[in-house]
Amino acid sequence: MTITIHRGTKQIGGCVTEYEHDGWHLFVDYGEELPGGPKSGDLEVEGLTHGDLSKSALLITHYHGDHIGCITKLPKELKIYMGDVARNIQTALSNHLKSVNLLHEEMLERLKLMQTFKEGKAFPIGPFNIMPITADHSAFDAYAFKITADGHSAYHSGDFRMHGFRSSKFPEVIKKFIGKVDCVVCEATNISRPNATSKTESALQRDFKSLFMENKKAHKGTVVYLSSTNIDRLFALYHAALEAKIPFYVDGYQREIMDIIVNSDSIWTKSPLYQYGEYEPKVLIYDKYDKDKFYVSDSFPQFLSDKGYVLVARANKRFDNLLKQIPGEKVKVLSMWDGYVREGTETYNENLARSLGDDYVSHGWHTSGHVDMKDLCEFFNLLHPKAIIPIHTDAPDKFSEAFEKEWPVVLLNDGGFYTL
Ligand SMILES: [Zn+2]
Ligand SMILES: [Zn+2]
Repeated sequence: MTITIHRGTKQIGGCVTEYEHDGWHLFVDYGEELPGGPKSGDLEVEGLTHGDLSKSALLITHYHGDHIGCITKLPKELKIYMGDVARNIQTALSNHLKSVNLLHEEMLERLKLMQTFKEGKAFPIGPFNIMPITADHSAFDAYAFKITADGHSAYHSGDFRMHGFRSSKFPEVIKKFIGKVDCVVCEATNISRPNATSKTESALQRDFKSLFMENKKAHKGTVVYLSSTNIDRLFALYHAALEAKIPFYVDGYQREIMDIIVNSDSIWTKSPLYQYGEYEPKVLIYDKYDKDKFYVSDSFPQFLSDKGYVLVARANKRFDNLLKQIPGEKVKVLSMWDGYVREGTETYNENLARSLGDDYVSHGWHTSGHVDMKDLCEFFNLLHPKAIIPIHTDAPDKFSEAFEKEWPVVLLNDGGFYTL
C-alpha cells in the first residue's frame, strides 16, 4: 500500500491523502485551503479529479469546509462516502446557506448521491477494508479510519482531540476496533500552539453556567455567538442554561441542527448531553414578510428582559434587530476563534465584528477541536506505528522534533509518498 499526501504536509487546510493498492485509489478528504495560509490552488490528481474513476473512492472525515468544501469540483461519477449524521448536518447547513451562496445548491446535489457509513461497521472498497471510528472533534459525527490492504494497515486520524465530552472512551475504542497499525497519518494542528487546550469542554460548560447565573443576577441577558455546527459546544450551552434555570433561545435553523442530533441513532446520542432536558430549546420564529426580522409580539422583548435569557445568535440583521428590541443590558459572548474579528486579517468577518460590537467577552475559543501534544504521546502508545506522517499542520519540523526520538516520523512534501 502506498500513501501519498497530495496536500497538507505544510498547511492546516485542504488536506488530501491517497491510499493506493493494486490499481485502486482510496482518497481521504477534499476541502478548502484556509484563508491566511499558503495556497496551492486546484489540484490535478489522476483517479480523483480526472482519468479513470472506476477504481476510486473518496472518504470524508467530517463536515468542516477544509475537509469537504471542494467536493463540488470533483467529477460526479466519483463515489463519495461520509458519516450518516454528518451528511444530515451538512444538508441542513447547505440548505440554510444556499440562498446566499450558490455553491451550496451544488453541495446539496452531491450530498444526495453520497453513500454513508457507520461507526464500528467495516466496509470494503476494492482491495481495501475500511473501519470507521468516531473521533471527538468540534464537528459531530467526525471519523478516523483504519485502512487495511494486503496485510498492511494505516490509521488516518482526521481532526480529533482527547479532551472533549466523548474522549474518555477513545482508548477503549482504539483497542477494540483498531489495535496496532503500521502507519499513522496524523493531524498535527496544535504543534505550534502548546496552550491550545487549556480547558476541557466539561470545565467550559461549568464556566458558562456560572456566567449565565451571574448575568441573570445582574439582570443582564446573555447572547452567544458560535459556529452553528459546533454541536458539543451548543449542547453544553443548552444544558448549562437548563441547569441555571434560564430560558434558552435559538432560531429555526439552529433548532433543526439540534433535532438532527437528538433524533439520530448515533451511539453518542444515548448520552444525556445530546438529549433535551425538562425544557426544550425555544425557537424564535422567522417573520414571513421581512427576512431581516423575527416575528415577535409587542410584549416579547420585555418578557425576555424580565425573565432572563441565553440566546444563541448569528451575525445577521435578524438577530441584530431582535437584540436592539430587547430592553436592558446584555452580555455578548464570542465562543469561537477570535481571528474572525481581528481586523486586517484574511479571516476577518465583517458581519460578525459588527454584530458583536466592541463590548464582548471571548469565552471558549481556546478549548480547541484538536489534540494537544501530551495526548498525542498517549495516542501513539496505543497504536504503536512503524511510521507517523504528520498532516494538517503548519509546523511539521516541530512535530518531528517533538516525536522523532521515540517514534519514526516521516516528513513528506506535498505530492510525496510512503510505501508500507
Ligand atoms: Zn475539523
Ligand atoms: Zn481540519
